[in-house]
Amino acid sequence: MSKKLSKRSEDYSKWYNELVVKADLAENSAVRGCMVIKPYGFAIWEKMQAELDKMFKETGHQNAYFPLFVPKHLFEAEEKNAEGFAKECAVVTHYRLKTNPEDKTKLIVDPEAKLEEELVVRPTSEAIIWNTYKNWIQSYRDLPIKINQWANVVRWEMRTRLFLRTSEFLWQEGHTAHATKQEALEETELMNNIYAEFAEKFMAMPVIKGVKTEAERFAGAVDTYCIEAMMQDGKALQAGTSHFLGQNFAKAFDVKFTSKEGKLENVWATSWGVSTRLMGALIMTHSDDNGLVLPPKLAPTQVVIVPIYKGEEQLQEISKVANKLADELKEAGISVKYDDRDTQKPGWKFAQYELQGVPVRLAIGPKDIEKGSVELARRDTLTKEFVNQTEVVEKVKHLMVEMQEALFEKANNFRNEHITEVNSFDEFKKVLKNKGGFISAHWDGTTETENKIKGLTKATIRCIPFGSVKESGNCVLTGKPSEQRVLFAKAY
Ligand code: AMP
Repeated sequence: MSKKLSKRSEDYSKWYNELVVKADLAENSAVRGCMVIKPYGFAIWEKMQAELDKMFKETGHQNAYFPLFVPKHLFEAEEKNAEGFAKECAVVTHYRLKTNPEDKTKLIVDPEAKLEEELVVRPTSEAIIWNTYKNWIQSYRDLPIKINQWANVVRWEMRTRLFLRTSEFLWQEGHTAHATKQEALEETELMNNIYAEFAEKFMAMPVIKGVKTEAERFAGAVDTYCIEAMMQDGKALQAGTSHFLGQNFAKAFDVKFTSKEGKLENVWATSWGVSTRLMGALIMTHSDDNGLVLPPKLAPTQVVIVPIYKGEEQLQEISKVANKLADELKEAGISVKYDDRDTQKPGWKFAQYELQGVPVRLAIGPKDIEKGSVELARRDTLTKEFVNQTEVVEKVKHLMVEMQEALFEKANNFRNEHITEVNSFDEFKKVLKNKGGFISAHWDGTTETENKIKGLTKATIRCIPFGSVKESGNCVLTGKPSEQRVLFAKAY
């Protein structure tokens, strides 16, 4: 398989699909809309999981696990949630297959094994979890409950893309229960902030925090907070969401507690999630026409060492230096791989590690042995330099920090250059067509106008950013008064 990718400037979507497959991250499967995550892709996801999991635990959350199936009557209990997800649900109706009497090589669904009640494959777990919380919560002493689950969910998506939108995806979903509205609101904000911190510090991906409009809100939520990122093609990506669920699920599942004052009250709820979509976000934020570019903090291998040699004797000389360097780097907390396979040529290895976004490549040849040097190549800038062997560890340690920051800076500049204020609908359409990115515009606050703009331009309101200044203006479409700009964009 050729390692060459299509160019981003020519066909962004083809470039993305080729990169995911050629960098060995994931591939399509025999199941429509469901992907196979390959070991290298999964290793990056595991790094993300580990950091997020740490952040959740540091803020007092615990992991637990709930069933994959939701009995239909429970799924129906919170009406808005049920209605919102109904169109995307996979449903189990039978529990057995049997041999087809007309063709013994085939199986058919056994009509006698029909379930009394259908089971919905969870598209999200509020229903099953709140039905459980009902038994866990009686008094204010049982609160708060702060639980997270790492799981898979199924949403029968019609148009799927590897990582970005799949029918089955991996995610974490937090589900918390609180005695007061204030506490639940604080939790919703805290988790949105944690997502933003993770995106910026680990993924080196700048995000805008805000609140969704009613049309884009999670089904069953009172409010949805989100982090929105900007991809290199000028399209936005919803990278994470945190929902304030009010007392909607407590009422639907009759979850009440006795307060300190001895009053019976409904419990307040939040839920929040990020998914394997973050892999797509990571890829599309930093990568280039040569392949994946990974921020050092999420790279499964941060440094690869490649020997350049002729014959066994040279390899042995080089391996002595390479193994010593590898040990020193490991000791300094850097993940390193010495690739001395003789089944592939150095040129092949260089291209492979470039495609897979390994942040630093060290090459050692016979000349380097003479001179006490190594050739160091940096993945993000594609620059090379010779470094004294005694200085490699310090240099690499420094580079890990520098590259992490440089990637954020670059993405942040790009994102900031792609926020455009517009004051008329003509301008709106022009910017959307010629430049893309976020469009900051006045909107009259109605779902009707939001839908009209979506129908005319395919752009949606990504969020009403937090902390943005109040500014009176007129809606770009209707001219009606507005108090604040919102962010529109075409989105994944
Ligand atoms: P939600 O429960 O709808 O708020 O979604 C939680 C997280 O999962 C958000 O960050 C979404 O962007 C992401 N997500 C939603 N649908 C999909 C999908 N089909 N594939 C991958 N990620 C998704």
